[in-house]
Amino acid sequence: IVHLRDVRLERGGRTVLRDISLDVPKGQVIAVLGPSGSGKSTLLAALTGELEAAAGTVEVFGRPIPRRNRDLLELRKGIGVLLQGNGLLTDLTAAENVGLPLRAHTRLPRPVIDRLVRMKLHAVGLRAAADAFPRELSGGMARRVALARALALDPPLMIYDEPLTGLDPIASGVVMALVRRLNDTLGLTSIVVTHHVHETLPVADHAIVIANGGIVFSGSPDALSASPDPLVQQFLKGEPD
Ligand code: ATP
Ligand code: MG
Repeated sequence: IVHLRDVRLERGGRTVLRDISLDVPKGQVIAVLGPSGSGKSTLLAALTGELEAAAGTVEVFGRPIPRRNRDLLELRKGIGVLLQGNGLLTDLTAAENVGLPLRAHTRLPRPVIDRLVRMKLHAVGLRAAADAFPRELSGGMARRVALARALALDPPLMIYDEPLTGLDPIASGVVMALVRRLNDTLGLTSIVVTHHVHETLPVADHAIVIANGGIVFSGSPDALSASPDPLVQQFLKGEPD
């Protein structure tokens, strides 16, 4: 569902990633690991078309990233993005936050939107919190509201950039279990960028490690722990954050 071949990505005229080749099959949960500044968010930006590849091909949903704005918008509707910090609007309730993409991008009548919002909140286990404001929610609950909002338009591809930042171990476990369950029950594909190796690997089908401008490991989570690569081992041991 995501296909990169010999991709080079630049930021501010500097090459951040080179020779990136990656295939993400439909239905999988992929963990993208690597030290701070290694280019994980840059890679995600290439998938949403926010950043154009300096070389190579990037395909999402079987098509190259489009150039025209209208087509880009269409692509982005198919990608649910959960960014660090949630991005919830503080003066809107949980339900209103989840309804935002539906009001912005569809012409569905109000009652239909309300029903879809209830379904999304139910999917993240928060139907009872519909009328709560973000400040009334715990960190983990707020993260799940943001997740429900990312799911609002039923995107086939989900991208998570550091979904566990600021969460305690219990909330982290809840969020990662949810990522896996939503992936499987809704037939999604999920790309999870994270520093939190130990919380993420158990729910991932495949892991890649980015360091020194490239992919230094690509394989199963089990193979990752066993990798002899010193770069990989150093990263696994010295887990920042
Ligand atoms: P973190 O784990 O801290 O989020 P990351 O792996 O996501 O790090 P990126 O944000 O992709 O790393 O950054 C990769 C490199 O690109 C860094 O050297 C960063 O300084 C640089 N960079 C990122 N965004 C920009 C930008 N908009 N303009 C210029 N340089 C950038
Ligand atoms: Mg980042």
